[in-house]
Amino acid sequence: MTDGPDALETARLLHMGEEGAAKGDPLAPPIVASSMFHLPGDPEPGLPFYGREANPTWQAAEAALSLLEGAPALLFPSGMAAITAALMATLKAGDRLLLPSDGYYAGRVLARDFLEGFGVRVETRPTAAFAEGGFEGFRAVLIETPSNPGLDICDISAVSKAVRAAGGLSIVDNTTMTPFGQRPLDLGADLVVASDTKAPGGHSDILLGHVASRDEALLARVRDWRTRSGSIPGPFEAWLLHRSLQTLELRLARMCDNAEALAPRLAAHPKVREVRFPGLDSHPAHGLARRQMRRFGFLIGFTLESRAAAEAFIERCPLLAAATSFGGTHSSAECRLRWGDDVAPGYVRLSVGTEPLEALWPALEAALG
Ligand SMILES: *Cc1c(COP(=O)(O)O)cnc(C)c1O
Repeated sequence: MTDGPDALETARLLHMGEEGAAKGDPLAPPIVASSMFHLPGDPEPGLPFYGREANPTWQAAEAALSLLEGAPALLFPSGMAAITAALMATLKAGDRLLLPSDGYYAGRVLARDFLEGFGVRVETRPTAAFAEGGFEGFRAVLIETPSNPGLDICDISAVSKAVRAAGGLSIVDNTTMTPFGQRPLDLGADLVVASDTKAPGGHSDILLGHVASRDEALLARVRDWRTRSGSIPGPFEAWLLHRSLQTLELRLARMCDNAEALAPRLAAHPKVREVRFPGLDSHPAHGLARRQMRRFGFLIGFTLESRAAAEAFIERCPLLAAATSFGGTHSSAECRLRWGDDVAPGYVRLSVGTEPLEALWPALEAALG
């Protein structure tokens, strides 16, 4: 089990506004919409001087993310911007990069369509067998566990250790878990990246992402990439994320509780062929999930008879948003086949929301028919 944010850190998150506050200061961070900052004489380290370099509202969100990650964090305008920053900060021409073959597809497209053109050699491997073949000669290795959408699991600690021993850097995409579900830096990863568009934002109204690391030099290079490339978030989005993080622990607890209650009920339903959920004994890496994850997450994959049956189920259920993406307060679902993912035609990725279980299960059961 990872350390994750402990109870005191979780509580401290809710009191950050009081830290260092002077009488009359706002407890909620202001939205600072300014490109310029008063700058007579020489710049002072740590003080914002230009909006592409730093912004106090980002810094408020970053301070909250840092508390959750147990490491300094940098905010980006999307999860993909965060992943791009981590890769641009670690790779150069001639380097080899290893990606999951079954992880979030946009990372593979980015690597194939852009990084390969700059001379980076890209290889992929399935998450469930990620350590097989070793990591000799890879400059950067990115893993995603549980993987999106297949919810396969690999051993973060073992992979990070083996990558380091082989002289490379490990990057963990922790989007599906958040730091409350597992904290990859505690397990030895060099960098963690995440899409805060998902559960951290949680209300389906912003795109954001972050990179965190305990390696100062590495994170300084990620920051440099942000400043030089101009891949920066807006202060309004940063403010919304800061607000959302106050309830992340509460929302995630409900979502994961709901998912744990729903997974066995789905598995027992005659219309459901197969359920993929790390918390079920039937998951091929359930033992590893128990050791590695604090919660089993809020994503459930399950297979119905056909694509048509899956689409009909989603459409019939009034408590399911038919939408791509996940991690909102509202449950949502989609057939991943429509994006060309390597899944059965009737595979549904269900993102379990915060609805009361007493309402959610009957609605799902009725829609299964
Ligand atoms: C959504 C997602 C991303 C990309 O995040 P955006 O905020 O959409 O750019 C990256 N990794 C995983 C695992 C995701 O689910």
